[in-house]
Parts: sequence; structure tokens; C-alpha cells
Amino acid sequence: MEELDGLMAMLRSELLALGIPVSGKLLPGVRVNTRAKRRLGCCYYQGGRYWIEVSERVLDDEALLKQTLVHELLHTCPKCRDHGERWKAYARLVNEKLGYKIERTVKTEGTEGPLRHEEVKYILECQSCGARIERMRMSKAVKCPWRYRCPCGGKLRRVL
Ligand SMILES: [Zn+2]
Ligand SMILES: [Zn+2]
Repeated sequence: MEELDGLMAMLRSELLALGIPVSGKLLPGVRVNTRAKRRLGCCYYQGGRYWIEVSERVLDDEALLKQTLVHELLHTCPKCRDHGERWKAYARLVNEKLGYKIERTVKTEGTEGPLRHEEVKYILECQSCGARIERMRMSKAVKCPWRYRCPCGGKLRRVL
């Protein structure tokens, strides 16, 4: 999505201007996730490269979209893959200087419950149907994917 890439480039330079060391190893192209309903966005890391995904649910709300992209961009800074002290310090700086409202959870109207930022650390992929199972933390299935099966019956393989 070209518009998203332009927005991302702008946000990136805003952060760099504040002295926030956003990684240069970010793959071009923001991906849009249409399946993870509870998720705002996610920053993935593999093989020295980062890529960022946003939920299609945030696309219609410019403020939420920007906030989500900035949140994920901060995860590309050194030692910022979790919401640790360094990530929080950058988030505070951005909120203060640029007027964003970087949070981990955003309440939505209605009864749907909050949307969250999630840090996907592991991905299992079904070798038959290609379904992807994403996990935020280590689990038995992540450790030993060969012991588990996709609902379609296919074998699982860890790809992240
Ligand atoms: Zn996050
Ligand atoms: Zn499958």
C-alpha cells in the first residue's frame, strides 16, 4: 500500500529527528493483517530484518494508525523488542514531543474489548494448508512442532 509507505517514511523521519535510533533494517512495505482481530499491529524480526504489520481495523482511524506505526517503529530500536524500560522511555519521549498516545492496549467502543499490540516471536506454519499459527511466547508446540498437527491434519514447521 503506497500511502502507508509514505506515512511510514514520514513517521520514521520524525522519530530520527528526535534522536530515536529507528533501525535502518526495516523491510519496505507495511503489511496489512486482515485476520488477527484483536491486534493493532506487530513488529516482526527475522534474520536481522524487521517488518511491520498493522491490522486493517486501524486503517480508517488516522490517529490510531499513526500511533500504531510509531509503536511498532519503536520496537526496531536496539533493545526494544519488548516493552522494556528503553522502549517505554522512547514512547514517553514521543508522546511528549510529538503528541502521540503510544499505548499497548486501546479500548474500542462497544463490547468488543480492547485491541492490543502483540509481539509475535514464533510462527508455526502448516506444511499442507499453509495456515500460520503465531505465538507471543515459547510453548510446547513452538519447542516441538512435530508433535502437533494443524486442524487440517497437516504437519507443522517453525518458520520464525
Ligand atoms: Zn509493542
Ligand atoms: Zn493445515
